[in-house]
Amino acid sequence: MTKEFLKQRIADQKAYIYGLNSMYHTVRTEVRTSANHQLIYFENQLKQLNTMNYKKYQEEAARTFANRKEPLDTDITDELHCVIGMSTEVAELMDAFKKRIYYLKPFDETNSKEELGDLMWYIANYCRLKGYDLEDIMEMNINKLRIRYPEKFSLEQAENRDLEAERKSLESNN
Ligand SMILES: [Mg+2]
Repeated sequence: MTKEFLKQRIADQKAYIYGLNSMYHTVRTEVRTSANHQLIYFENQLKQLNTMNYKKYQEEAARTFANRKEPLDTDITDELHCVIGMSTEVAELMDAFKKRIYYLKPFDETNSKEELGDLMWYIANYCRLKGYDLEDIMEMNINKLRIRYPEKFSLEQAENRDLEAERKSLESNN
């Protein structure tokens, strides 16, 4: 083995090791990037599953709604079921306040949320039966209130409403 031969082998070997290192680096980076993408994908999927939105809620609420045509045997039977239900859920919510104020019990936040959810269930089903889009209803409400209170609530404006302008706004949202 000559000196030149050995020098060449050392240079070749260094180049080989350098190549291996950078290849490893590239592979490691690619694996990490792909693993990160997978992670982000799974996190997003989970987020979507966990995020409740109105559309999803309405579908879920429809699943447990018992359609009934009796005893009134008219199209409004189910709608009336929802309206009566809204009123009874509000009464249940009032009961939480009654217990707090008159029986001096701690306010039951869990029960308060439960009744609010029940109320929402009836609202979602009512909207579905009537073919209303809840987001349109929210927008109608806010637009009406902007006419009633251009800045913020005031007693004077509450007592002097422009009902005609409010009605026009509601109709234009229809
Ligand atoms: Mg209830």
